[in-house]
Parts: sequence; structure tokens; C-alpha cells
Amino acid sequence: LIELRGVNKHYGKLHVLQNIDLTVGRGEVVVVIGPSGGGKSTLCRAINRLETVESGTITLDGRPLPEEGRALAQLRAEVGMVFQSFNLFAHKTVLANVMLAPIKVRKTKKEEAARRARELLDRVGLASQADKYPAQLSGGQQQRVAIARALAMEPKALLFDEPTSALDPEMINEVLEVMRQLAREGMTMVVVTHEMGFARSAANRVVFMADGRIVEDRTPEAFFTAPRSERAKDFLSKIL
Ligand code: ATP
Ligand code: MG
Repeated sequence: LIELRGVNKHYGKLHVLQNIDLTVGRGEVVVVIGPSGGGKSTLCRAINRLETVESGTITLDGRPLPEEGRALAQLRAEVGMVFQSFNLFAHKTVLANVMLAPIKVRKTKKEEAARRARELLDRVGLASQADKYPAQLSGGQQQRVAIARALAMEPKALLFDEPTSALDPEMINEVLEVMRQLAREGMTMVVVTHEMGFARSAANRVVFMADGRIVEDRTPEAFFTAPRSERAKDFLSKIL
């Protein structure tokens, strides 16, 4: 579904993506982990074309990523992204936040968008919060709204960049549970996270990234029980 071949990117002298090859199949959950500054966010942003790359190819369903305009908006609809900071519209209700993109990008009728939005809020356990404003919700609830908003575009894949790192510990699980449910339903997901429990239980593959390279790309069992690289051993010894 998502394929990167020989992708390179620099920020000035910093070679932030070095010859990245990565394939994410339909229904696969790929967890990306690694030390800070390793390029994990840049990788996610490149897949959604929030960043351009200098060389290599990124394809979605075999088609190269569009450069601009309507096709790019369509891509962003097909590959949703959930960030660490929830990026909800503060002056719009929860329901309006979830309805917005389908109305703007898809030209969905308002009634239909509202009906769908209520369904999605129900799915993330927030049916009763539809008419509140983001500031009236907890961080965990806001992040679940952000997930519902991404789902409103019926994406083919979802990218998550540290979706729980801004949350208080007691709220992390409610967000991970929604993500586990999506994984069970067959959503294709790329998840940057430090939640190793989630990586072990929900990932098909763990991609370990450091210094702009993919150092390991293996099953969670293989990675966590017997990391091959010194880099990964060192990283795991610090976080586990
Ligand atoms: P973290 O775990 O801290 O989120 P990361 O693996 O997501 O790290 P990136 O955010 O992808 O890492 O950043 C990779 C490198 O690129 C870092 O050294 C960072 O400072 C640098 N970088 C990121 N964005 C920019 C930018 N817009 N301009 C210049 N350098 C950048
Ligand atoms: Mg990051």
C-alpha cells in the first residue's frame, strides 16, 4: 500500500533520511521507534507529503505522491495523520471538528457529515461529548477526537506521530485502546511511539530508526527478544 524506495532528504548538512526503503502492506501495523532526532517524524511527514524529499520514490497503491493541488488534498484524505499535539480547531465543537474535512474536501452534505461524525465519535467512546469544545475535554479525549477526525475521511492508512506522548499516564491507554481496535479492524497504520507495550501487542513489524537510517525492520518478537544492532540494544536498554 505504502512503498518508499531509496528516499533521501537533507536539512542543510544533516542527512535526515538516508536511502530509506520501507513497505507497508494493506492492513499492516508498523511501529517506528528510535532515539530522538533519528528521523521518525520526518519519515511520517514525507509519507503524507508534509515534507518533500530529494530523491527516491514514495508510492501509495503504486501511484507516486502528487505534487500539489487537488490531488495532494486527496492524498492527505487517503493517508490521515494524527499528531502529538491534537491540532483541533479550538473554536469549533467536537462534532464540527470531525465534520469539517468531509464537507470541505469531499463536499459531503452537512447532514450526512454530521451523521458520520456522530458514528465515529461513538466508535472512539465520545458520543456524549459531541457538542463540547476541545478545551472542555481531557487530553486523551481530544486525541480520540483527532483520531475520529482522521477517520472521517475514510483513509486507506493512518500515520500516528507520538500520539500519546503529550498525555498524562492515565489517559494513554484509552488512546492506545482505540488504536488497537483500529488495528484489529484491519486499518493500515504507521505508528511512531515510545509505547513498547503497544509495539509488542499490536505491531506486525517494528522499524528501528537511528541517524536517518532504518537499522532494523523485524517482527516485534524478534526485535525485542534479540535486537541485532548495537544501536537497538543500547536504545532498548535505556527504555525498558
Ligand atoms: P523525536 O523522537 O525527538 O521526535 P524524530 O526521530 O522524530 O525525533 P525528526 O523530527 O524527524 O526526528 O528530526 C530528525 C532531525 O532533523 C533532527 O536532528 C532535527 O533537528 C532535524 N529537523 C527536523 N525538522 C527540521 C527542520 N524543519 N529544519 C531543520 N532541521 C530539522
Ligand atoms: Mg518526532
